[in-house]
Amino acid sequence: MKIGLVPIVAKEVDEDVLNAIEDYIGRFYSNFGFEVEIIPKTSVEDLSFAYNSVRDQFLGRFFLMKAAEIRGIKGISVALGITDADLYEKGMNFIFGLANPYLSSAIISLARLRPEFYSEENEGLLKDRAIKEAMHELGHVFGLEHCSNPRCVMHFSNSIIDTDYKGNAYCKTCLEKLKRSLGWKDDRD
Ligand SMILES: [Zn+2]
Ligand SMILES: [Zn+2]
Repeated sequence: MKIGLVPIVAKEVDEDVLNAIEDYIGRFYSNFGFEVEIIPKTSVEDLSFAYNSVRDQFLGRFFLMKAAEIRGIKGISVALGITDADLYEKGMNFIFGLANPYLSSAIISLARLRPEFYSEENEGLLKDRAIKEAMHELGHVFGLEHCSNPRCVMHFSNSIIDTDYKGNAYCKTCLEKLKRSLGWKDDRD
C-alpha cells in the first residue's frame, strides 16, 4: 500500500518540506503497512480554471480532484497533494487543506504555513506546520473527524495559532479509531 505525495506547483514546493513530510508520514504510517513516495510534480497551469483573480486564490476542491486523478493514474492507495498555491473554499477566507475519504485523497497548501506570510522568520517552522497539516488531512482520509483536544493533530485549525498550538500526533482516542479502521501492523506479526 502506498501513500503518494503529489507536488502541485505554482512557483515552488520546497524539496526539504516534501522530504520532511515523506520522513514523518513514512515512519508513522509504516505501522499500518504504508510506504510513502514522492510523485513527480505537476503544475498549477492545469488548474488555471480554478483560479479566482479577485481573490488571487484557487478553489481547493479542484486541487483535491487533481490529486485523486493522479492517484488513479499511478495506481496508489492514497494521494496527498502538496501545493504552494493559496486555496479557498466557499464560505471560507482560506483553507490549510481539504480531504475526501471516498476519493482516498487530500490536499494541503503551504501558502499560509510559511512564517513569512505572518512576517516571521523561523527555518524549521514551515516543516513542522506542513507535517501537522499532512497528518491532519490523512487522518480525514482514513475516517477521522475533528477532535476537541486542542493538542491533537485532528483539532481544527481556524488560524495558524491553532496549528502551532497542536502537536504533530493523533491523541489516544484518535489513534485508537485509526487502529480500528486501518489495522495496526504490530497486531498481526
Ligand atoms: Zn480537518
Ligand atoms: Zn484526537
